[in-house]
Amino acid sequence: MSGVRAAAVYARISSDTEGKALGVTRQLEDCRRLAAQLGWTIAQEYVDNDLSAYSGKRRPAYQQLLTDVADGLRDAVICYHVDRLTRRPVELEQFVTTVDAAGVRQVRFVSGDMDLGTGDGLLIGRIMAAVAANESAAKSRRMRRKWEQTAAQGVPHGGSVRPFGYEADRITVRPEEAEVIRQLVARYLAGESLRSLCTWLTDQSVSTVTGGEWRSPTLRGLLRSGRIAGLREYRGEVVGPAQWAPIIDPADRDRVLARMAERVASGRRTPRRYVLSGLLRCGKCGGKLYASRRETSRRYVCLPGPDHGGCGRLTVVAEPLEAMLVEAVMQRLDGPELADTLAGRRSDSAAAELSDGLAGDQEQLDELAVMFGKQEISAREWRAAREPIERRIHDRQRRLSALTQTDALTGLPGNGGQLRDQWESLSLSRQAAIVGAVLDHAVIEAGQLGARSLDPSRVRAVWRL
Ligand SMILES: [Zn+2]
Repeated sequence: MSGVRAAAVYARISSDTEGKALGVTRQLEDCRRLAAQLGWTIAQEYVDNDLSAYSGKRRPAYQQLLTDVADGLRDAVICYHVDRLTRRPVELEQFVTTVDAAGVRQVRFVSGDMDLGTGDGLLIGRIMAAVAANESAAKSRRMRRKWEQTAAQGVPHGGSVRPFGYEADRITVRPEEAEVIRQLVARYLAGESLRSLCTWLTDQSVSTVTGGEWRSPTLRGLLRSGRIAGLREYRGEVVGPAQWAPIIDPADRDRVLARMAERVASGRRTPRRYVLSGLLRCGKCGGKLYASRRETSRRYVCLPGPDHGGCGRLTVVAEPLEAMLVEAVMQRLDGPELADTLAGRRSDSAAAELSDGLAGDQEQLDELAVMFGKQEISAREWRAAREPIERRIHDRQRRLSALTQTDALTGLPGNGGQLRDQWESLSLSRQAAIVGAVLDHAVIEAGQLGARSLDPSRVRAVWRL
């Protein structure tokens, strides 16, 4: 904990051009944000409307600040930049002397990384250096502030590289890239891994905006970005609707985030090598079967020991079992029952409800942020109010993720025949996602040890759909 309970915030308007570029409201907003980050409680905000920066004319709020600091009423000072505090070296020395004498060790500026609360001897030197550096720093500060303003207005800010899916104006959608994004999202939600999708992009000769090959981190960044769902973000947080058109539905982005969160939680990042991994049970002990590669053949086996807990007495050869169950999945996809079940599932609108709930939660968070920005609530109240909402968001994302299982089957029922033709060309993670959406698990009964073929009567499928 910082222990700061009575911080002073100082802001100043002046007639110079820098002052015009930097309204007092924005100075205060930034100072409050810094206080919130540091966990400091603001006791008072001191604002001077000083139209003659160099005159040395008395600034009432600044004088009050010095008096309060000297009286021990303030234990920290936050200011936007050292040039807001004062511009005259003699005043800086006076400030440093007052702060030092009062034992106030915490002086922070929003702009620049100066922490004046450490090393008394360096104090004045640092401030002087900051003043000297001010002119060159001012330009980049103005730029950053401009970006923040444009972000707040939902206008895209320029950068050297255009975003994938949009033209260089950052507004106009590129239809062919938008189509790629929609396919990527659908396939990701269908269970395909990022790595497998990168391979697909390379196969399709789709390169990144800089002409490079797609890598998982880049692709993850694209899929999780608010931009493609028509949401503007500021420092990684969605702050509202944007002026550009969405390429995907915001609800689908929620699903993508849920799926990413789930993947991190389950820690399964490596590509699977067995299409039935996790879907088979031992008929002898009920334990899970694990993929196992022997010299010549792939197998699923029951493994004993503390890690696996199986009986270790059952083995089944992988290829004929996979062929059999995949065929059974395709037959189910062709059957009328499955189409009916899926139709029912989709119309029960559970996913839509969850998405609406998520949107509502996000709105509440936005409102709270605005209230905090207007100082209607304190940083502590803001944090406290956010907590239950963020818990609810997490819970909704988790349940949404569970529902997305059936997304793997979008467009598939009634198309088992077509799927059969494509099957070999699908990636393993896509195959596994389709099988896993239809098959809950299969129990494998004991068979002849070391058999190379499969007795179909050993297999009992338990269908999810
Ligand atoms: Zn077993």
